[in-house]
Amino acid sequence: MIDQKVKRLDEIKGWLVDLDGTLYVSDSAVPGATDFIKWLRAGQRHYRFVSNTSTLTRRQIAEHSEALGLQIRPEEIFTAASAVAQLLRSFEGVKCYFQVTENMLEEFQGIEISETNPDYVVIGDMGRAMNYELINRAFQFVMGGAELIALQKGKFFRGADGLRIDAGAFVEALEYASGKQAKIIGKPYRQFFNLAVHDIRVEAGERWLSGDFAFVGDDVEADIRGAADAGLVGILVRTGKYNDSYSEHHGIVPDWTFETVKELVESLR
Ligand SMILES: [Mg+2]
Repeated sequence: MIDQKVKRLDEIKGWLVDLDGTLYVSDSAVPGATDFIKWLRAGQRHYRFVSNTSTLTRRQIAEHSEALGLQIRPEEIFTAASAVAQLLRSFEGVKCYFQVTENMLEEFQGIEISETNPDYVVIGDMGRAMNYELINRAFQFVMGGAELIALQKGKFFRGADGLRIDAGAFVEALEYASGKQAKIIGKPYRQFFNLAVHDIRVEAGERWLSGDFAFVGDDVEADIRGAADAGLVGILVRTGKYNDSYSEHHGIVPDWTFETVKELVESLR
């Protein structure tokens, strides 16, 4: 059941704000990004900055944001990895095997690691380090009864030397070989939005409905459709990934659309 969505922007209780393409594009902050962050803080509002990266920790994202002049703290950031860590910490005594880059292990601190009989296999993005032995190891654990969790299921992306196969193709290979479905936590999967909303509810100590939350993003498919599927208010900004024809082609109608976060924050004042 989808909760009734709020009718006015000033009624929104919790804000989920995409980072890449929404608050910054490549290496510059979007106009109004600083003002929007100030607005969120000034009103003691409840919010999370959201990133779909599976290769950077929240600390690294905060450092990158800081370099662009955006003051964002690691604990204000929500990623697929932080969502998975939160989920795993809620299951008492589980043992996990993490197939993620070295830096990402920082996100999973405090969770017991098993290299022999894990309850969960968490597969992230190994990039160039991925090889047969690694994927086969994950496969053996899954066949031995472990559940498979994926931080993302991207097919491919554009690198400096052309298109490159993404981590999702390896997740699919594991699903194909084992006959088991991975639980995928990244955007646009509903669980990602649900976990982010849960995080804010816990912080606020409130039982707000999903329709009391808004997602601000530049990606029609991953952000706006994902938010709508999870019952959230979708606010599209025409920066970053946004492009007119793509939006029309997908027939997705956001609840609100703004040129940039600058117009959004102006409408909120
Ligand atoms: Mg984005």
